[in-house]
Amino acid sequence: MVNRAEARINLNAIAANVRHLKELSGTNLLAVVKADAYGHGLVEVAQVAISAGATWLGVALLEEAITLRKAGITAPILAWLVPPGSDFNMAVKNNIDIAISSIVAFEEISKIGGRPRIHIEIDTGMTRGGFLDQWQKFLQSDFSTVEVVGLFSHFARADEPDEKQNSHQRERFLEMFAELEAVGVHPQMRHLSNSAATLKDHSSAFDLVRTGISMYGLTPDISMGDSAALGLQPAMKLRARLHLVKHVRANSPVGYGASEMTKVDTKLGVVAMGYADGIPRIAHDSGVFIDGKRAQIIGRVSMDQFVVDLGADSSAQSGDWVIIFGDGSEGEYTADDWGKASGSINYEIVTRIGVRVPRIYDYE
Ligand SMILES: *Cc1c(COP(=O)(O)O)cnc(C)c1O
Repeated sequence: MVNRAEARINLNAIAANVRHLKELSGTNLLAVVKADAYGHGLVEVAQVAISAGATWLGVALLEEAITLRKAGITAPILAWLVPPGSDFNMAVKNNIDIAISSIVAFEEISKIGGRPRIHIEIDTGMTRGGFLDQWQKFLQSDFSTVEVVGLFSHFARADEPDEKQNSHQRERFLEMFAELEAVGVHPQMRHLSNSAATLKDHSSAFDLVRTGISMYGLTPDISMGDSAALGLQPAMKLRARLHLVKHVRANSPVGYGASEMTKVDTKLGVVAMGYADGIPRIAHDSGVFIDGKRAQIIGRVSMDQFVVDLGADSSAQSGDWVIIFGDGSEGEYTADDWGKASGSINYEIVTRIGVRVPRIYDYE
């Protein structure tokens, strides 16, 4: 059976990115594999990242961490979005490190026994996760029943390396670390950097960097340079088949709402992927790549399909493959282009590729 659409994942590119980032950081690397490894496949990416030199794995959910353990992965795993009421016993049983950012979660986990491994998350200025208002009270806790493995925080603006907020967050991180040490708690490791900081701010690498988007070969923000400028290789190539190619007359209304008309006699291609597969409905200023050129979207993106204007001279046939995005080396659109065309970012493009789209792995 031939797929109507597929996301081809180049695991060699991920391995090369891991090696590059690890060398740049000069420290240990935690491969961020949350959200199905940014759409690239949780277990496959975790395995290749470990074999390329990552020593830690990071996920948002406890369920994601358990899936990794069930796949036989033994590397240390940190899960950082585990709210109070979660099954902390399950975390201990599976040797999963848990991020703690509230007193209520700490009280739950410190009661279960088995010396749970925790990383204390602090809010150093992003005003999202991490201890802020409860910090002084938290410092008076009894830490004897847990193992404090790490202290960590997260940058809000590391993709703007010159912003003062970055140095403020780093300073606050060091202050709060000192306050923790002052009450006799000595975490084995400190970690602060995401991809952007790993690429641009070596002073924040500490004992571990947590790299997500860059490991997949994508830039944290286009203002920092594209993948190639950052020495990264995009790992995902998304392609789909032309369900149908047909000649259409000028002034034909295309798609729902007749939002657009053909201007001249042309050939249209119906691409077998739609918003249910993660093609943003709003991304009009984008398209596909076929026969050495780009063909732009015409009309609205539907649930399972969208239409592109191939041009009257196109030799494309029903059943041909088109590239929706790739690394851009042949002239195709990139995940960055799709992000821009949909008022969003490459992160959202790759993480929202739907479950109906098989991931096919290329690895030598
Ligand atoms: C998602 C996430 C990361 C990775 O961020 P990138 O910008 O993709 O490198 C790192 N740390 C935490 C806590 C995260 O939630």
